[in-house]
Amino acid sequence: MIDFSITDEQKALRDLAKDFAKNEMIPKAEHHDHTGEYPKEILKKAFDVGLMNMHIPVEYGGSGLGVLDELIASEELFYGCSGMATAILANNLALAPVLLGADDYVMKKFVQPMTETFTLAAYAVTEPGAGSDVAGIRTTAKRVGDEYIINGSKMWITNAGHADWFFVLAKTDPNAGHKGMTGFIVDAKTPGIIIGKKEKNMGQRCSDTRGVTFEDVKVPKENMIGKEGEGFKIAMGAFDKTRPAVAIGAVGVARSALDHSIRYANTRNAFGKPISVNQGVSFMIAEMARDIEAGRLLCWQSAWLIDNGFRNTYQASIAKVFCADMAMRVTTDAVQIFGGYGFNEEYPVEKLMRDAKIFQIYEGTSQIQRVIISKFLNDGVGIETPNA
Ligand SMILES: Cc1cc2nc3c(=O)[nH]c(=O)nc-3n(C[C@H](O)[C@H](O)[C@H](O)COP(=O)(O)OP(=O)(O)OC[C@H]3O[C@@H](n4cnc5c(N)ncnc54)[C@H](O)[C@@H]3O)c2cc1C
Repeated sequence: MIDFSITDEQKALRDLAKDFAKNEMIPKAEHHDHTGEYPKEILKKAFDVGLMNMHIPVEYGGSGLGVLDELIASEELFYGCSGMATAILANNLALAPVLLGADDYVMKKFVQPMTETFTLAAYAVTEPGAGSDVAGIRTTAKRVGDEYIINGSKMWITNAGHADWFFVLAKTDPNAGHKGMTGFIVDAKTPGIIIGKKEKNMGQRCSDTRGVTFEDVKVPKENMIGKEGEGFKIAMGAFDKTRPAVAIGAVGVARSALDHSIRYANTRNAFGKPISVNQGVSFMIAEMARDIEAGRLLCWQSAWLIDNGFRNTYQASIAKVFCADMAMRVTTDAVQIFGGYGFNEEYPVEKLMRDAKIFQIYEGTSQIQRVIISKFLNDGVGIETPNA
């Protein structure tokens, strides 16, 4: 039976996130966009009300929520401000590979404390020379006694300037391709970690993105996630959970653009009547709504699959590419509906258009999602659905 209703708990979570977006994020979004100031106080409040680290299992003190639960909350946070929301949800990205592969020691040492104390984490995989081609990373982790020594540089790492720990993907066997990669938790206080300057990005400007260099950084072998050589599988497996969440972020941004467009089109007059009475404008708005609804359903489907034990890589890529491209289109149309005012930073929609662009780039570009989808279709195997 197909059932699109959400539970009372999910409604409560959605309302919590909606109120948080309305009261804490929206009033400060413009300030943080203009200044680029990191919204640490807002993140701390999000932690206090339970909107961070939603997937930590109950046995380690967390709320143990599923991917669909996260999506329901995240859409509201991204509606509020996607720069802040990316910063809030970067912890989930860093935690995703850890929750897939960590043993009890790591869970107790690094994950459990996150349920008690405000902690920030970062997912450090991309490098200056390798983004889409993860197997091309050059950071190494060399075993010396009971430690690994990490050397290399990471790039575009969200929350890097504030992180308490990093999930780092490194090569433990540089000759074994993606099978020679291993994941580690690295305490940010470890000597040898050099944090780069905060990058000035086109959108989501208050989110903290930096390069990070590791120079002879010593990591105890106990901080390894999974086994040696399992890092690529774990880091990629994490995307099955995080891509639906990124895709719903694009839905949140697009929904904000839609709401602004409806309000503006009903109050802006041209030729003696509101511009919304023109079919050329109202159809643009109708198409925004159509695509937002479709995008949300794709996100929910991919989340439902993984929450219910099915592999969702194919559907997560479809949700990610559809929603990212959709948000870019919808926010561009919103700017169009605002006319000259849309192009001006005193009005809200140019921020949304700038913010939307990153959804086509991070967590696998729109091209890479198409590569994944094509591979599934060409192989003719691996698309798992409850009805297959
Ligand atoms: C604001 C921001 C935050 C980020 N946060 C994080 C983070 O927290 N952690 C992290 O590890 N990374 C993060 N990233 C990195 C992000 O995931 C990468 O930028 C992204 O994966 C693309 O890699 P690249 O920039 O090296 O581009 P490249 O891989 O060099 O790609 C350049 C272009 O070539 C295209 N291309 C590449 N290969 C193919 C192919 N096979 N077929 C077709 N087209 C192809 C790409 O789609 C793209 O258009 C972040 C990036 C940004 C900008």
